[in-house]
Amino acid sequence: MTRVLVVEDEPAIADALVYALETDRFSVRHVLTGGDALHVLSQESFDFVILDVGLPDMTGFDVCRKLREDRTIPVLFLTARDAEIDRILGLEIGGDDYVTKPFSPREISARVRAILRRSAPNDIASHKDAASDAKGLVVKSAKKMEHDPVAMRLHCHGVCLDLTAHEYKLLLVLLENEGRVMSRDQLLEKAWYDPGAVTDRTVDAHIKTVRAKIRMVHEGAEDMIQTRRGLGYVFVMA
Ligand code: CA
Repeated sequence: MTRVLVVEDEPAIADALVYALETDRFSVRHVLTGGDALHVLSQESFDFVILDVGLPDMTGFDVCRKLREDRTIPVLFLTARDAEIDRILGLEIGGDDYVTKPFSPREISARVRAILRRSAPNDIASHKDAASDAKGLVVKSAKKMEHDPVAMRLHCHGVCLDLTAHEYKLLLVLLENEGRVMSRDQLLEKAWYDPGAVTDRTVDAHIKTVRAKIRMVHEGAEDMIQTRRGLGYVFVMA
């Protein structure tokens, strides 16, 4: 059962949301504050977090930032203000999606499903691995870059990369399209939920942080992401 954590301090909204999610057979835990959210997240595992931006003790952004320090769990923000949306989709926060209040709880439930489907590993990576192995390629105990679709983690030389949700998706898209030059538009299209809301520079900035994180676990491995000037980026398992 998919476990969803709902962090929302307004009881009426929370009740409607919990009801809609449970009706859709999600297993739901509800907390009222950011502090409680961080506490239960440290104790239990969840597949998804629905996070109100305006919480009594801290902002949903703060909660997300903390959360992103050590995992890539998808986050859907609930926001009442347009001004918050840019921040949610921007680099700073790394949310996966947002819904503006007032919203229909059933819409949220559908959105949660869509995000989970999208962030869930498609089978391409594992198929590709099987194909590569069959041809006798890329068979090493610790592959240079490897996808763990269940944990939604990417490992470089056997070491788990500490990626935000967008970084994870971006690197996964590049990996799945190994050897193929991907334009910034294609990357936005495939790795972001609402590509219209972000710019090419967002891609560049994320590429930069992904490279830095790869470099932290294995110096030189970041060169697997190559820049093709004027064209985009390509992943090469060198
Ligand atoms: Ca609130």
